[in-house]
Amino acid sequence: MIELICIVCPRGCRLKVYTDNNFKVAGNECERGEVYGRDELKNPMRVVTSTVKITGSKINRRCPVKTLNPIPKHLIFDAMRLLNSVELTAPIESGSIVVDDICGTGIPFVTTRGMS
Ligand code: SF4
Repeated sequence: MIELICIVCPRGCRLKVYTDNNFKVAGNECERGEVYGRDELKNPMRVVTSTVKITGSKINRRCPVKTLNPIPKHLIFDAMRLLNSVELTAPIESGSIVVDDICGTGIPFVTTRGMS
């Protein structure tokens, strides 16, 4: 059995996930906690945020980006490495794709801010 804090909402329920009993979850106040507890142990996913270089912007030299959807947690470092070679040119709109397929997941990195 493994104990986790559910991070899906601010209530922060203390979950118990029984890995020896088909990942049965206890301690959750709602169904979302059951899904979170099971997925966190079987296939943890994360939204990744970072910044990339941008040239020609009056605002900043880095542009904030994030994965459009959560990606498998074990791919986070590989995903971050992909951003090292990205260099944007202003102007750019919020939601622009900067990496179109992170490590074969089909999920892109997108800008989270438009910059001129
Ligand atoms: S189990 Fe439900 S109520 Fe409890 S923290 Fe998770 S989402 Fe919130």
